[in-house]
Amino acid sequence: MTIGWMGLGLMGERMVKRVASLGEDVVAYNRSPKAIRDLPTHVRVTSDPRDAARGSRVIFLMLADGAAVEAALFESGALDAMDPGAVVVNMSTVGVEESIRFAERVERRGFGYVESPVLGTTKPAEEGKLVALVAGTEANVETALPYLRTMAHVVHRLGNVGNGSAMKLMVNYLLAMSMLSLGEALAFAERAGFDVRTALDVLATSSVWPAVYGGKRAMIETGDFTPQFPVKHLAKDVRLFTEASEHLRARTPIAGLARDLLRRASAGSFADLDMAALCSWFRDDGQGQRSDS
Ligand code: NAP
Repeated sequence: MTIGWMGLGLMGERMVKRVASLGEDVVAYNRSPKAIRDLPTHVRVTSDPRDAARGSRVIFLMLADGAAVEAALFESGALDAMDPGAVVVNMSTVGVEESIRFAERVERRGFGYVESPVLGTTKPAEEGKLVALVAGTEANVETALPYLRTMAHVVHRLGNVGNGSAMKLMVNYLLAMSMLSLGEALAFAERAGFDVRTALDVLATSSVWPAVYGGKRAMIETGDFTPQFPVKHLAKDVRLFTEASEHLRARTPIAGLARDLLRRASAGSFADLDMAALCSWFRDDGQGQRSDS
């Protein structure tokens, strides 16, 4: 038996190495050809998702969104290629209802489904220091756990499928609000005549300075927004948060504005930049031009 993997993006290419550290053979699918540095020899990369599914006891998904899961797991025929007893562990950030529907479709075919979206970005992914938000039946979660522990140093077991996604979207909503607020605050500081470094120096000594600002400070100061967590995924997560809020009738009126701002930011050249670029976006027209020039 092998381990299956789908999605070798920013996170997946790092996480698959952690799973491979257990020594089992891994078949890893990516839609587009991808050369990955220092990939262990027992990880075989394939462009056919059915290869990752066939003969695998556990198949991990770290794909962009629900549409990618739909394409890679269902439309491709990968689910049909899975062996009896196999468990799908979806680590992609998808919607709450979307994840529940994926679970139903996988379980209807007699396979297991675990959702385990993660907190943390590329560096924690490299170091095995993610936080896993795990939901699913006890038996399926037990199957996934040894592998999840290679990627995550904290594992929250949250009950039924849907709960992991709900917690992930809650966290990323606050993350989005933090970055959007910082962008606005810095745009204000600039108009008040301060450079970014001075404004950040002051903020860093205040009680409203969260860890994520410390992590993004160098990017904001240098303007190097090589993506760790791209704006387009943050926009997706806030959209999913507003959809889940509507479904749950949660009172989250500020989220609608955040969703609309992020939709605009991710429609232009900022989409693939790191979310820290939102700090420039407020001073920009979204096309790389200063809005006041
Ligand atoms: P990414 O770099 O954009 O990678 C996305 C992956 O999905 C790539 O392998 C991509 O394949 C694949 N994909 C996209 N559309 C597809 C389709 N239609 N069919 C098949 N494959 C498709 O994303 P990431 O940063 O690794 O994030 C992956 C997931 O984890 C997302 O849900 C994200 O929200 C979440 N997440 C990200 C972070 C982070 O810091 N980056 C942290 C926590 C959670 P190609 O290479 O062919 O495009």
